[in-house]
Amino acid sequence: MLEVGIAMLQGARHEHIFSIKEAARKLNINVNIRELRKSKDIHGIDALVLPGGESTAMKIASKNEDLLNSLWEVISNSNIPVLGTCAGAILLSQQGLISTPIVRNAFGRQKESFQSKIRIDYPHDDDFPGVFIRAPRFLEGSKNPIAWFGEEVVGVLEGKKMALTFHPELTNDYRFHEWLLNEAIEFKSQ
Ligand code: GLN
Repeated sequence: MLEVGIAMLQGARHEHIFSIKEAARKLNINVNIRELRKSKDIHGIDALVLPGGESTAMKIASKNEDLLNSLWEVISNSNIPVLGTCAGAILLSQQGLISTPIVRNAFGRQKESFQSKIRIDYPHDDDFPGVFIRAPRFLEGSKNPIAWFGEEVVGVLEGKKMALTFHPELTNDYRFHEWLLNEAIEFKSQ
């Protein structure tokens, strides 16, 4: 049984839970979703999802329980696979857990939220439905891109940390969640 932790601070949490369950069904593996609210909930997780939402609201929501600080420690001290989407990607970058710089709310007003076909190269070259909601941008690109909106990098994979500026959990394409589960299997077997 894989233990997949989801930071339940704020934002698109339930959509990620649904996507993880669908990915698990597709891969035919047993997954327990661990809803992380307090530091003590973290122990023993095999993978982590940092959902989108509002990164500032997440920091405030985390203050009492210090959940985020405990998560940063786990990510720094282990090779646990992490999927950070949108605000989750912002937090990973702000914490220096990925080396790619990110700028919040960096699309102009008219394009604050939009959908567009994007290109991914995980697990191989293909299209993906990109859903962008007041999305951040990797304005300087990245050495480790895995997703592009036109020429622009919108997803990076640094080691076992995947940061996406779009929302795969709002689509019925579960490939990124399948990546997380496959990595979790490897992590658990180490
Ligand atoms: N605008 C949000 C932030 O700055 C991110 C948007 C999202 O997660 N959909 O945190």
